Amino acid sequence: MKANYGYMDGSGEYYITIDTDHCNNCSHHGCITGCPKGMFQVITDDYDDEVAEIKEEFRKKIKYDCADCKPTTDRPPLPCQAACTPGAITHSW
Ligand code: SF4
Ligand code: SF4
Repeated sequence: MKANYGYMDGSGEYYITIDTDHCNNCSHHGCITGCPKGMFQVITDDYDDEVAEIKEEFRKKIKYDCADCKPTTDRPPLPCQAACTPGAITHSW
């Protein structure tokens, strides 16, 4: 399942999408330590699967929390995506 975390405002759409189908078989949960802001956590969902999610307190301000990882030029690979070797994480902006 693809789970979206974020919001839309006058300046654009700011969503992190996690394809949780990848998470249950992920042995390292690299997203937890890979994000310098500590935005990810892994929980057990209603189906007893381990899935990553964005912590509640970040969901309404991800544009600002992610800004350090997203310079307008010469943007390096995002740490969260580099850490998630299964490729579950995408960003809308
Ligand atoms: S590293 Fe990727 S696949 Fe693994 S738990 Fe985190 S988001 Fe899911
Ligand atoms: S872009 Fe940076 S701050 Fe935002 S989720 Fe990824 S690693 Fe964390």
